[in-house]
Amino acid sequence: MSPHDAKLPPVEVNSNGNKCDLCTNSKCCTYVTQQIDTPRSKYDFEILLWQVSHPNVGAYKDEDGWFLIFDGVPCSHLLPDGRCGIYEDRPTICRSHDNDYCEYDAPAEDGFELWFPDYHSLLAYCRKRFKRWSTGNPPPS
Ligand code: SF4
Ligand code: SF4
Repeated sequence: MSPHDAKLPPVEVNSNGNKCDLCTNSKCCTYVTQQIDTPRSKYDFEILLWQVSHPNVGAYKDEDGWFLIFDGVPCSHLLPDGRCGIYEDRPTICRSHDNDYCEYDAPAEDGFELWFPDYHSLLAYCRKRFKRWSTGNPPPS
């Protein structure tokens, strides 16, 4: 998972100097992710299909497992100039992010093993994964 990055204030210098100052869209502060149980059954994938049917909701798998991603949802603390409005109190996940190689360098999806930005991409995967893909599956008992 790529945690939310800490948008560094102009006065703070890190290993990449003012890299965050150059990052105009503050990509790392405009989405959230949530790890989910690895989907295995048709029912699990039906749930996932429903979730990614909503705008800005996607799913991916990387070396840490499966995640939902809600993209295009800027953090309410992101200031118009790209700085963090609660910099001193920002959450640990924001503090721990390393900007040595981040979304400024390449899209996060470049590092995903599987990437489903929408319903149709996930449906194609389901049809490949399950020989006889069908909906209407009961939850596992
Ligand atoms: S709390 Fe600050 S650093 Fe963290 S996502 Fe929000 S704006 Fe970005
Ligand atoms: S995406 Fe990278 S460069 Fe841009 S604000 Fe986040 S850590 Fe800084």
